Amino acid sequence: MRITYLAFFIGLMTLPAAQAIAHGEHSHSHSHSHNEEHDHSKDHTQQGSHVHGVAYLSIAMAEGEIQIELQAPASDIVGFEHKPDTQEQKDAIDSAIALLRQGEWLKLQQGTDCLLENANATSTQLQGSGHGDFFAELYFQCNSKTPEYFTVSFFEHFPSVERIDTQWLSDMNHGSQRLTPGNARLQFN
Ligand SMILES: [Zn+2]
Repeated sequence: MRITYLAFFIGLMTLPAAQAIAHGEHSHSHSHSHNEEHDHSKDHTQQGSHVHGVAYLSIAMAEGEIQIELQAPASDIVGFEHKPDTQEQKDAIDSAIALLRQGEWLKLQQGTDCLLENANATSTQLQGSGHGDFFAELYFQCNSKTPEYFTVSFFEHFPSVERIDTQWLSDMNHGSQRLTPGNARLQFN
């Protein structure tokens, strides 16, 4: 299946999200000092840690299939990153996972006929890692040609996210775009 190749390729560009999804687990093999300053922005590209306020999205499209992978810091999704201690915190994680799985945080171009065929979401907080991340994967199958753009409503659901760094790959082209609350449309061209 061609999308598998594309997803693998795009996975190479955004290792943290792709690895966690692809392996069905989070592999925190990187060494990562959880210091009090909470400043680990330098690690991101090499080490797969996150920057608070920044989510990552990777999209692979081919032959009527779309695979979307999201990574977002748990602090921006539920307001804390540690393993849940209370029922309230467990519930917060569960509802965030449900919301991410529903896929309603993005809207495909109107007029495209694509169905959400499969969706997964998880939080590494459930395993109790230091800086928790949410991961989500959506898989769409299209009866029309794949969309030329998405609009993301992620910022309305999770207002502490300031931007989403996005990379996309189709069988025609590839690109990257930074999405913000003021510019939440991802254009594939
Ligand atoms: Zn963190």
